[in-house]
Amino acid sequence: MKLTIVGCSGSFPGPQSPASCYLVTVQEDGKTWRILLDLGNGSLGTLQRYMDLRDIDAILLTHLHPDHCMDLCGLHVAVHWNPDGWDRPRIPVWGPAATADRIATAYGLDLDPGMHEDFEFNSWTPRQPVDLGPFTITPYPVLHPAEEAYALRVEVADPGAPGGKRILTYSGDTDACDGLVEAAAGADVFLCEAAFHEGRDDAIRGVHLTGKRAGDVASEASSRRLLLTHLPVWNDAVRTLEEARSSYQGEVAVAVAGVSYLV
Ligand SMILES: [Zn+2]
Ligand SMILES: [Zn+2]
Repeated sequence: MKLTIVGCSGSFPGPQSPASCYLVTVQEDGKTWRILLDLGNGSLGTLQRYMDLRDIDAILLTHLHPDHCMDLCGLHVAVHWNPDGWDRPRIPVWGPAATADRIATAYGLDLDPGMHEDFEFNSWTPRQPVDLGPFTITPYPVLHPAEEAYALRVEVADPGAPGGKRILTYSGDTDACDGLVEAAAGADVFLCEAAFHEGRDDAIRGVHLTGKRAGDVASEASSRRLLLTHLPVWNDAVRTLEEARSSYQGEVAVAVAGVSYLV
């Protein structure tokens, strides 16, 4: 399983990166499967460096804040108004129950048909796994001020791996909570947000993690590697890394847009 950081800037795009979007690919029987974890603002343009938009197998949304879903609006145009037509099925989108209506409203479309002609919208059921080709994705409810917010645990069978599978967990946006620990249990890579700093944002709880709190969760979950992400432009990446190292003994790094990681 390969993880490519399309966008990792926290809360809004930065000069070096779009907002949240992660491309996850797996080769199986000669086909490359490609799923996207979130499609935040600015990510649709950069995504085209890595793949043809026709080859998106599914889009998995953690929650409906614009920095995680808003480029569905642009993708709708790319699908619906392509002068050459769109010779592929509707793109499956998994997300909160309100996704279809929220995105149609953001664009200014009537809710019917909204974007239903372009996307096949599906709603998450907490902790209920979804199978997509070689991927099994399980959404775990997390702690964030959105009507539904999930961490996503992505599993792919690999006979050579411990436990017979590779595990990538993506936190979405969240503060520390039991659902996040569950989602990240034994993950080969725990891609975890760290939007806040210790000593700067301590008064705000229930929204984001600091580097230290991300490290605490990774330790409790026995995650094998920790990849910090969703740092806003006003964060200091070195400070975030030091916070995480104070609470997590494993390998830790800060995600960089354009870099790929093997899971
Ligand atoms: Zn966010
Ligand atoms: Zn959010």
